[in-house]
Amino acid sequence: MRGHHVPSPNPVILRGKPLPHPCQIHTADPWIFQNCRRPSLSPGLFHSDVFYLHGGGLGLPRQPFPVKSIRRNASSPPIPPRVSQPKPFHQLPAPAPVHDQVRSAIVACELCPRLRDYCTRIGEIRRRAYQDHEYWARPVPGFGDPNSRVLILGLAPGAHGSNRTGRPFTGDSSGNFMYPILHETGFASLPTAISRDDGQVLTGLYITAAARCAPPDNKPLPAELANCAPYLDRELEGLKHLRVIVALGRIGFEAYLNYLVRRKLITRKREYEFRHGAEYVLSGHVLLASYHPSNQNTQTGKLTKEMFRKIFKRAREIADDTTGRISR
Ligand code: SF4
Repeated sequence: MRGHHVPSPNPVILRGKPLPHPCQIHTADPWIFQNCRRPSLSPGLFHSDVFYLHGGGLGLPRQPFPVKSIRRNASSPPIPPRVSQPKPFHQLPAPAPVHDQVRSAIVACELCPRLRDYCTRIGEIRRRAYQDHEYWARPVPGFGDPNSRVLILGLAPGAHGSNRTGRPFTGDSSGNFMYPILHETGFASLPTAISRDDGQVLTGLYITAAARCAPPDNKPLPAELANCAPYLDRELEGLKHLRVIVALGRIGFEAYLNYLVRRKLITRKREYEFRHGAEYVLSGHVLLASYHPSNQNTQTGKLTKEMFRKIFKRAREIADDTTGRISR
């Protein structure tokens, strides 16, 4: 640890008067005075001891170097400032959070040429109602609270929804169906999601998808889902407080089971059947299955508001449970 003094294996000790604190004696460097974390006085230290500094804590080679003993008093000349003083650990900028790193990787991804071409083309042609909109037309990263306990795992961006706005379930009919319920159940600050800068804030909830690029006919190929899976792995690893996964549709459901298989947390997927309202406890997390809030399901009555509300009330109940029952 930088600033922590380590006595030389063979300290040179000249007899003298024990002094109050070795830092104030053995170096003229004020940084060392300020940063010494030596908690108490060590008996038997003399002002001519030779101390060594560690560089190892900052990844520097462990090459100790002696710090000369300089006694200072009021008439001493001022200490010249150090030219290139490396910052101690606590002053270094924190590394980007996992979700920011994953987000950047997703937005720059070009792994699936078919999907990338499709998204770009959609962004150029545009739907008549959105002719004056600038389409995002990039892979759509996850959105929400990195400390969330609930994850929504959807299928993929909609061609004129997320592929246009750049945020999951934003600016499309699925989002119009879902966000009022997320707002009611306390996960979303607003009952609407119109654009990336609409002020929507999710609390305790993160939204992601099995594929991050809009696929033709809403059908990503198995190879495209496999290409995108590592992003899901990274996101799931970053969600340290996660308790509930709400899988929207069969593809989202399968994507989570595939993640568990990749992590060797389950061996088979057969026994986990996808049906609306199904609930499975898997490796300390609850997997809740729901129909996807797509037009096909909501306009045909296959998925009603009440059915969907029940899913998120249940997710809320599990997320808020403090008995620890799901962590078996
Ligand atoms: S679907 Fe996923 S893996 Fe494929 S290009 Fe888009 S972000 Fe990359």
